[in-house]
Amino acid sequence: MPEPIVGLHHVTAIASDPQRNLDFYTELLGLRLVKRTVNFDDPGTYHFYFGDDAGSPGTLLTFFAWPHASRGNCGIGETSATAFSVAHESLDYWEKRLLSAGIPVEKSAERFGKRVLAFADPDGMKLEVIGDTVGDPAKPVRQSEVPAEHGIHGFFGVTLCEGGFDLTAQVLEKMGYAQSESDGNRYRFTSTATTAATGDGLASYIDVLVQTQLTYGRMGSGSVHHIAFRVTDDAEQLAWREALKELKLNITPVLDRTYFHSIYFREPGGVLFEIATDVPGFATDESADTLGEALKLPAWLESRRSVIENLVPPITLHYQKAL
Ligand code: ZN
Repeated sequence: MPEPIVGLHHVTAIASDPQRNLDFYTELLGLRLVKRTVNFDDPGTYHFYFGDDAGSPGTLLTFFAWPHASRGNCGIGETSATAFSVAHESLDYWEKRLLSAGIPVEKSAERFGKRVLAFADPDGMKLEVIGDTVGDPAKPVRQSEVPAEHGIHGFFGVTLCEGGFDLTAQVLEKMGYAQSESDGNRYRFTSTATTAATGDGLASYIDVLVQTQLTYGRMGSGSVHHIAFRVTDDAEQLAWREALKELKLNITPVLDRTYFHSIYFREPGGVLFEIATDVPGFATDESADTLGEALKLPAWLESRRSVIENLVPPITLHYQKAL
C-alpha cells in the first residue's frame, strides 16, 4: 500500500459572477488569486484558484465561474461545507470582519472541542472557519488586508453529506484516514499521516454527516463540484490508482491539469473525489511573485487566446492596485 493520504489538495466549487467571487475570496477572506485560467473543458469560462501566498496544496479553493449558473441545492452525495483553519484566538476577529461586511455568521457550539463560525459566500456556498492552528500561516498572503496572525492557514477539512456511512468510511480508511471522533450523525475521519507529515493537521479532516432525511443534491452555483486529495508525485498517484481499484471504484486515467496531474472517481456515497499531485505547482507558467495577475492558458489553448480573451468577462483584481 502507498503511504496514507496526508490531506486535501484542493476543493473545486461553482460560482456565478466571476468578479463577485474574486472580490469575496481575495478582499474579504484575504486569500491570494494564485491562478487565473479557464475551464479546460469549457474555455469560455474562468477557472480561478485561490490559496496562500505560494498556492500550496491544502490551501487551494478553486472555482468554475459560470455567470448563468442557477443556484445549486445541497443534498446527499455532496460536500456540504468547506472549512478553513485559523488560529483559535482569531475567531472573534473573523466574526467581526464577516458581520461588518454584512455576512450573517452562525456561531455553533464547539465541534469536537474546536470553535466554529459558519457562513456562506455570495453564491450560497457553505463555509466555516475553525479555530485550530497556532501561530501565523506558513505563507501568509502579502497583499491581504487580513493581518498575518489572523490569516487563513489553509483548509481544516470538509463535511460530506451522505445517505449512509459504511461504504464511504471504507474508502476513506483505505486512503489512510481513521475515524477519530463522532457526535450524533457526524463522524470525523483524520488522516493517519497527519502528525508526521504536517504537524498541525492542516486539511486533514473529513467529516461524514449522515442525513438520511435529505434527497440527492443538485449541482449549481454554490455547490462543491469535487474535492481533491494530495499525493507527492506521479508514482504515488499511480500506486493509489492501483490500490483503490481493489474497492471496485471506477477510476479515470491520469489527466494533465497543467499545475498538477489528476485521477478522479466517485466514492460510493456519490461525492466526486480526485487525487492530485503536489507537482509541478503554480509557478510553472508565471513567476511566484506575479501569480494570478495574467490570464494563463495551457499550450494547447494558446492559439485560441484572442478568442478566449473576448469570451471571458473582464475582471479586476483590486488588491493589485495596493502594491
Ligand atoms: Zn480538481
